[in-house]
Amino acid sequence: MSNQQDAFPPEIPVTITDCTAAFAGLSHYLDGALAPPQQASMKAHIDSCPPCLDAFQFQTGFRSMLQNGVKDDPPAGLRDRVFGQILNDPFTPDSGPGF
Ligand SMILES: [Zn+2]
Repeated sequence: MSNQQDAFPPEIPVTITDCTAAFAGLSHYLDGALAPPQQASMKAHIDSCPPCLDAFQFQTGFRSMLQNGVKDDPPAGLRDRVFGQILNDPFTPDSGPGF
């Protein structure tokens, strides 16, 4: 699914200086698909930017939920619960019992 290459993902700047770049690179960062300077710069931005830290923690929790939970089709209602939670409370990643 992830097509890792040695090249920098061209849409991600080497130095992450703003939230737009950080959001664009977040999934690559979680995949370990960024080059080391990008990884370091992404980490530095996340460490100093609460909204991006929230997004990072949410993505991390969401991915671990998918990895741990998806064997067959998700139980009926799970998608609605997850997306309902996102819509209701996008900036409180630790609030839900489901993670
Ligand atoms: Zn940011």
